[in-house]
Amino acid sequence: MDYEITIEKRKEWNTVKKSVDLEEEKLRSEYNEQIKTYQRKMKYLIYVLLNNKCQCCGETDPSYFNIDHVHNDGSKDKKYNIASWSGRYKIVKRNPSRYQILCANCNYAKHQNGGEMYVPELGWVVRKNKST
Ligand SMILES: [Zn+2]
Repeated sequence: MDYEITIEKRKEWNTVKKSVDLEEEKLRSEYNEQIKTYQRKMKYLIYVLLNNKCQCCGETDPSYFNIDHVHNDGSKDKKYNIASWSGRYKIVKRNPSRYQILCANCNYAKHQNGGEMYVPELGWVVRKNKST
């Protein structure tokens, strides 16, 4: 079979391809928005499940929130899919007492304090141990 590709056919093909590309891009964009909305909801559900504030200083701005393992046993969760908020939600919902919200500052201070919640009035556990 002999095809003759004329300039008109090529223009027609390009027009069709552009409209398909635009439609695909629109669908992809809508899909991504739905995923983002769903993930935001999952994140919010986790925060509500964990009292929606830093359990150390009471910070309520979610921009600062970290999900902390109360007993520093995060390695137990490595077998689970925590790449998405929906995955994290499933894990947290299973046993919420293992987790708490800490703001970035308090989470960092807990880490620096050898895994113990840092209480400014009591001072540093790690530093105390090092000096004795
Ligand atoms: Zn805090």
